[in-house]
This record gives sequence, C-alpha cells and structure tokens, in this order.
Amino acid sequence: MRLLLIEDDTMIGRAVRQGLGDAGFTVDWVMDGRAAERALSNGVYDLALLDLGLPGQDGMAVLQGLRTRGNAVPVLIVTARDAVADRIAGLNAGADDYVLKPFDLDELIARVRALLRRHAGGGSPLLQCGPLILDPVRKQVSLKGETVHLSAREFSLLETLMQRPGAVLSREQLEDSLYGWTEEIGSNAVEVHLHKLRRKLGADTIRNVRGVGYKVVAP
Ligand code: CA
Repeated sequence: MRLLLIEDDTMIGRAVRQGLGDAGFTVDWVMDGRAAERALSNGVYDLALLDLGLPGQDGMAVLQGLRTRGNAVPVLIVTARDAVADRIAGLNAGADDYVLKPFDLDELIARVRALLRRHAGGGSPLLQCGPLILDPVRKQVSLKGETVHLSAREFSLLETLMQRPGAVLSREQLEDSLYGWTEEIGSNAVEVHLHKLRRKLGADTIRNVRGVGYKVVAP
C-alpha cells in the first residue's frame, strides 16, 4: 500500500514516515500543498495523510481541490489545530477522518488501516480470498489453515492483489503500490517477487493474465 504524507514539520514527518514504513507501507513525503497536488494527480496513492497548516497553499485548499476534481483518495487529516471548527470544515470538505497532534504513532497507524479497510468496503481487518487469508496487522498469511512465510515485498504484493480479488492489476500498478520515489526498481523486480509468491501459493492462486497483469483468485 502506498501512502502520501503531506507534512511540513520535518521532525513529525520523519517519525511518521519511519513508523508507517516499519508497519509495511510505502510512503512518499511532500512538504507543501503544491507538491501534494502534483503527487496526488497521478492517482497511485491508497491514502493521503494531510497536515492542514502548510506553507503556500494550506491543507484545506489541497483537500477541496482534490474533491472538486473528483479524486476520492481517502484523506486522513493530521493537524495541530484543535479548534472544532477546523475539524468540522475538514470533514465537510471531504476528509475521511482526522488525528490531532500530538498523536500516538500506533494509533495513527491503526487509523490508517481502519480507513483503508473502510475504503476497500470491508469491515474485517482480514483480507480473504477463499482459503487464502491475509492479516495486515499481524503480517500473517495462511492458505487452507497453513501459515505461509512471505518476505516483506511478497506480502505487500499479495496485500495489494487481495484488496481487489479477481481484478487484474498491471505490472506498473503493482510497482506503484510497492515502490516509493526514493527506491530503485530493477526492471523485473515485481516479476521476481510474483514468481516467488506463485511458487509459495500456487499458480492457480496468483494468475498471470498474459500481456495484461496478475490477479488473485480463490484456489
Ligand atoms: Ca504544519
């Protein structure tokens, strides 16, 4: 899952990026409203964490612009402003939830996961596709009740595929969900991870749709 962190405070930004990264998310970080708009326009993010007090264009304007253009990416407002009016304005402008600074990092991560679940349309923290079950919080995967051990990349790929069971995702979409700006991507890196994933879960679970991409189906 790839997140955009919009935060101009370097100390908070570093801590949040680190915490979300440790929790298995791919995080890109921008520090002002204009950069946020540019980043969000390419549609690769599963969620945005938005600080309201930003230099130049403030967070509320970013949010309004986003929703005006029909971009439905889930937005979690993370703000020091504790005025009730700001929070209400944010939610009315199309934010999905908010967290007030100072916040507990574990709570922030739990809210991010809850929002992603809600957005995917499921209330359960578990992703399931037939006998294949993925637990995003505990980082566990089981197939027919047997634990399957995956690397962090394999897990992320499977999580992305299991967000939309049956949907075919292109190599490019899978790359986007897996790698942030700062990471070098080998030309066949995603294929290598998918190959290993298919070896562990079976090619009837992770199906290759020739020339199009990959999908997960109940084995
Ligand atoms: Ca700020």
